[in-house]
Amino acid sequence: MNSSLGEQTTDLDGREGTGHLLHMLAERLYPICRSITGNGVRQTLQILKEYLPLDLIEIPTGTQVFDWTIPKEWNVNEAWIKDPGGKKIVDFVNHNLHLLNYSIPFHGHLSLSQLKKHLYSLPENPDWIPYRTSYYQENWGFCLTHRQLESLNNGEYEVYIDSTLENGSLTYGELLIPGTSDDEVLFSAHVCHPSLANDNLSGIAVLTYLAKDLLKQKNQLSYRFLFIPGTIGSIAWLAHNEAQTKKIKHGLVASLLGDSGDFTYKKSRRGNATIDQVVEHVLNHSEWPYTIRDFSPYGYDERQYCSPGFNLPVGNLTRSQFGQYPEYHTSADDLELIQPVCLELSLEVYKRIVEVLEGNFYYQNVNPKCEPQLGKRGLYTAIGGQSDQRNMQLAMLWILNFSDGQHSLLDIAQKSGFDFFVIKKMAEILVEKKLLLKMDK
Ligand code: ZN
Repeated sequence: MNSSLGEQTTDLDGREGTGHLLHMLAERLYPICRSITGNGVRQTLQILKEYLPLDLIEIPTGTQVFDWTIPKEWNVNEAWIKDPGGKKIVDFVNHNLHLLNYSIPFHGHLSLSQLKKHLYSLPENPDWIPYRTSYYQENWGFCLTHRQLESLNNGEYEVYIDSTLENGSLTYGELLIPGTSDDEVLFSAHVCHPSLANDNLSGIAVLTYLAKDLLKQKNQLSYRFLFIPGTIGSIAWLAHNEAQTKKIKHGLVASLLGDSGDFTYKKSRRGNATIDQVVEHVLNHSEWPYTIRDFSPYGYDERQYCSPGFNLPVGNLTRSQFGQYPEYHTSADDLELIQPVCLELSLEVYKRIVEVLEGNFYYQNVNPKCEPQLGKRGLYTAIGGQSDQRNMQLAMLWILNFSDGQHSLLDIAQKSGFDFFVIKKMAEILVEKKLLLKMDK
């Protein structure tokens, strides 16, 4: 069923709802072998371009970005292991996690013990394939289930890796949605993981649909979306856009948004940035359980955005915590682990955060000497339809008292315990009644 706006509301199988659309995007991206460079990232960004007017930026191999250098570009054609009988027992075609990401080209015959030095498995989860990378140290390897590793017999194995590691470039996608103000909100997701759903695709899907929404409306703030390879991508962006970073007033790194874990917010390094206040407020006034954590220099690209030379107000909002769910960095982080309903809820929380950022203004009480007489201005009747009239009056008193130009609506919501959206609605009524004046800052 399509809505009157022509917006697609069902996926290809007729499954309805936003959550399914997000999941469908993840399904399209899941099979692609991504890395920090290479055609998998380009293919991913090309798909995102069907949804968003993304710019694709290429940074050549060898470019110095702060203390790092853009590495050679990696691509894979084929990779497999044949057992002593000549049977392919591990094949990149079957799962792209089978190949150590960034494996150099290799062809050779090895004994089992020689081969085992290049094999990775998970004894604690013997049916899962681990995800391993070797970006900055030339190596080759294969990842397989522990059960399969245990079943290998002695003999001579043939290993073939047809990969290329050559001068090329690192690719990332960027979209700026300009608002009335130059002040920016940064949303960043990593796009460098191969077939991993929660860690990578869930963040991409949520941000894609968030950006689609923001493109449809007029915004006060400007929104910058980055779809970048983890670590090296954000370092490269920061190195090339240092002057731009002054405009970033709020930001979130999005990942791990499709599992059924409770929300986890890791604060910005500042710890008291508006974004920290906003996310905490939104979670606190929702019915979903959540955890708030202080910043730590371990995790996703907030590590770079919050490095001391930048110290941007960027937090990290996930569901399960970074690295703290059993399927993390394994083949079990698949399309089953991310659920449409969880993706949809995550998108909803991100949207609420945006709504607070968009409406968090400062106001001035134009009648600050004693309380204004609300009755004669029809303010009791203005809220006559409200079921909780007393509370609404109380909210007005909070707004009038603290609208001194020093407290934002969110500050007032926090102080009073009211939900931001109640405070905002009441402030709008007070503006209408000429008791409040919206300030520029
Ligand atoms: Zn990861």
